[in-house]
Formats: sequence, structure tokens, C-alpha cells
Amino acid sequence: MDAAADRNAALFDRARRVLPGGVNSPVRAFGAVGGTPVFVRSAKGCRLLGEDGRTYLDMVGSWGPLLLGHAHPRIVKAIREAAGDGTSFGMPSAVEVEMAEAVARAMPSLEMVRFTCSGTEAAMSAVRLARAATGRDLVLKFAGGYHGHADGFLVEAGSGAATGGVPSSPGVPASVAGATLTARYNDLADVERLLRAHAGRVACVAVEPVAGNMGVVPPEPGFLEGLRGLCDGHGALLLFDEVISGFRAGPGGAQGLYGVRPDLTALGKIIGGGLPVGAYGGRRVLMERVAPSGPVYQAGTLSGNPLAMRAGLEMLRILAEQPQVFARLESLGADLEAGLRDAAAPFADRTCVQRVGSLLTLFFCPGPVRNFEDALRADRAAFGRFFHGMLRRGVHLPPAQFEAWFLSAAHGDEEIGQAVAAAREALPEALGVRP
Ligand SMILES: *Cc1c(COP(=O)(O)O)cnc(C)c1O
Repeated sequence: MDAAADRNAALFDRARRVLPGGVNSPVRAFGAVGGTPVFVRSAKGCRLLGEDGRTYLDMVGSWGPLLLGHAHPRIVKAIREAAGDGTSFGMPSAVEVEMAEAVARAMPSLEMVRFTCSGTEAAMSAVRLARAATGRDLVLKFAGGYHGHADGFLVEAGSGAATGGVPSSPGVPASVAGATLTARYNDLADVERLLRAHAGRVACVAVEPVAGNMGVVPPEPGFLEGLRGLCDGHGALLLFDEVISGFRAGPGGAQGLYGVRPDLTALGKIIGGGLPVGAYGGRRVLMERVAPSGPVYQAGTLSGNPLAMRAGLEMLRILAEQPQVFARLESLGADLEAGLRDAAAPFADRTCVQRVGSLLTLFFCPGPVRNFEDALRADRAAFGRFFHGMLRRGVHLPPAQFEAWFLSAAHGDEEIGQAVAAAREALPEALGVRP
């Protein structure tokens, strides 16, 4: 091993002594693919500079927030200016109002918004509100759906929880897990069956309108509309978890793209411009129940933090000024999809590519992948070999099969070409076939 690569290994050794698994969020540890994670020294646009001295094409984008790439000059400037004005007040500030107005403008179903510091908090708080508003206890989610790490959501959760082979987690009381029902994604009959079996007891149906945490699984035509109808029919609220899809699926999120209006929405990732922000919102009558205007308690010392709000607001301003970003992301995504399909053509019986806009997954199983059960058929060992083949060629994919690749506006034709060329070589290696 050369000295540079040694540096990642040395840091990982040190890290594992003081951080569980060497990381602060599980999937970063390469547990699903083996090997040593790249420690990032800095990043710009769509490129990462590792502590190993190598440059990587970044297909992770911090797991979603960096729609405009790393260190976007306007966002960096906004953060610098904000920092000089004070990093936290614990009192109201104008930028929070502007930010809430910007979110409501882009996503009209959010008549009122509450900002939090993470997507986890947003989804968790939205569920508390749904329970309070309906006077019901049960939450219906989908297998492979990830809504952050609140207790009640760690039931058949996707993403890192699935990757680690932990369908739920120790430490989640059975009584809490018991209040979560799990349905099959893209299966309205399954949802209806559960709503009937638990008639009058389901507070909300929580769904990623574009599933991104079992790998990318698009909603089938009619699925989201069907959920809307079922919720209305059974008196349950519809909660869209748009922590990934908000401001990525389109300027109005997945709800804008598919034209389905949820009662409540959880946001995160992009709305922080790379700083820690989450938000939940919905109809005014619902949100008025949140403290202090109503009795549903939820708070945060650093919520609406001025640094995070200024970064997020700058992100939303850029997207409002440059709506063409979304068309460009769509065409970059389409090119990447076409390139990967071509590279994978000799293995069409063992792979499939699924994409929504700038979110894409190359599954190591035949398609279509419609739900988590389908995704679990993927050959994860082959993915691991593919991942390392790509990494050796300087392309850093999300280090697990059940994740989305995230494109940003900082990616261009050259980067798509680089990723496809790397895949052309890495695929036959991963699948044990000579090119
Ligand atoms: C990332 C994610 C969350 C959790 O957000 P954090 O900021 O990591 O707490 C919730 N829901 C979805 C769909 C996500 O992808």
C-alpha cells in the first residue's frame, strides 16, 4: 500500500478508536462494500480531494444536499457573511421568515413551515403532529422507506439500516415498533389491506414519493394518487417525506412533479444548502397545532439557525433564479442512464438502471425494481466489486447498493463521460466476465 492510501487507513484506525465504526453516520464506513473509506480533505464542484491526495468524481453529493455542487461561490459567500453577523441568536430573525416564505412559494402545500436541524427531526415531528391532529397512534410506512432514525421509523427502514442487515434496531421498544405498520411500496392493495385491518387507527401514511433509500424506485403511475385517495377514504393524513426529492425532483419537489398534494411534508438536505436544516410543513390548520400556536410541542435551540438559513435561502434563490437547472439535471441524468445502460448491455439479465431526474441507481439484479423485496434480490457482492472498481478509477459512488447516486449542477458532460467509461471497465470486472 502506498503512503498516500496509508493515510486513509491511518485516519480510519484512529477514528475507530474514538468514533463508533470510525464515523458519525453508518453508511460512510464502507461496511457494505468493505475496505477503507476515503477521508475528504476538501471539495469543489463535483470533485473531492481525499486525504490520500487523490481526486475523485463525487457521485454522493453529501447524500443529496449539494444540488449545486460543493462550495458554490454564492452559498459560501452567504455563509461567510452570515457568520460575521453572529452564528446563533436563539431569537427570531428576518432570514427565517424569508426562508419560510421561499419554501411556501415553491411548494404551495406548505402553507406554514417549522424549521429543524435535520430530516430526522422533521419527519419525527411531522408524525407527532399527525398523531395529535387525528387522535390516532399508528403510522404506516413502506418497507425500504427511510425517514430518519426516530424510533418508530426504524422498522424495515432502507438505506444504512438495510445495508447493515438490521431491519430494525435494538433499543427501539417493541411498543413503539408496534405502532408502525409496513406496506409494500407501489402496492396500493397492500396499503388498503392495512388501512382496513386497522380501521380508524392510522394517523398517517408516510412515503418517499420517489423512493431513494432502497436504491431509486420511482412511484408507479397512480401510486401516489392512490395513496391520496386511500388516506382521504380512511381519515389518515398523507405525509410526503421529501427530504431527498424536495427541490430535486423539480422546483416544487415530487409533489409538484406528480401533482399530488400531501397534508404534511418533511424536507431536509437541499434546503440547508449543505448546512444542517430540516423542515416540516403543511396546511395551516394542521401547522397551527404546533407550539406555541398550539399544544403539539416541538423545539430546537439551533432551529432556524442564521447560518443555515442564509445558506438554504441562497440555495432556494439560485434555484428560483435559474429554473433551467432542473432541465439540465434531467438531461445529465438521462445521459448517465443511457451510458450506463449501454455499458451494462452485456449484463442486461443481471443489472438494471432506475432513475428519476438526477437520482439514479444501478441495481445488480434484473429490473424492474418496484419495491424493497425486489431490491433485496440484488447481488450486493457484485456491487461491492463494482464500487471498488469505480473508486480505483476515481469515481466515488455511494458505498452501498441501496442508495441513490446524486448528480449536481456542477457535473457536466465530461464527468458523465468519465463515470460511464469507468463503468464500462468496472462492470465486467465486477461480474466476473472479460470485456
Ligand atoms: C436523509 C433522509 C432523512 C433523514 O434526514 P437526516 O438529515 O439525515 O436526519 C429522512 N428522510 C429521507 C427520505 C432521507 O433521505
